[in-house]
Amino acid sequence: MMRALKVCTGLPGKRCVELTASGRCPTCKAEADQARGTASQRGYGSRHRRTFREAVLDKEPTCRLCGAESTVADHWPLSRRELVTRRLNPNDPRRGRGLCASCHGTETSTHQPGGWNQR
Ligand SMILES: [Zn+2]
Ligand SMILES: [Zn+2]
Repeated sequence: MMRALKVCTGLPGKRCVELTASGRCPTCKAEADQARGTASQRGYGSRHRRTFREAVLDKEPTCRLCGAESTVADHWPLSRRELVTRRLNPNDPRRGRGLCASCHGTETSTHQPGGWNQR
C-alpha cells in the first residue's frame, strides 16, 4: 500500500507546498526549531519579524470605524511622529489600529497638524 503524503503544514505566516509523511517537511521543521530557539531567547524571532502593518492588520482585520476590511495600519492614538518624540516604539503593533482606505483618508484629513488637539 502506498503511503499517503500530505502537504507540509508550513510555518506561522508561511505556506509551504512540500509533500511530507506527516507534519512539516524537513526544511520547515528545521526553520521552526530555529525560530523557537531565537524566539525564546529574544522574545521575537527576527527572521520572522512581521512589519508593523502586517501585525496590525492581523490583529484588526476589520476597520475600527466602519467594519470593512482593513487595509491600512494607522498609528493610533498617537501618530508615528508623536511616538518618536516620546521615545516610544512606533513599530509596536499595539500602537496601531486597522482602518480601511476610505476611513484612513477621512481620519488623516481631520488629523492634520494642529487638528488633533481640537478633539
Ligand atoms: Zn515545508
Ligand atoms: Zn472604514
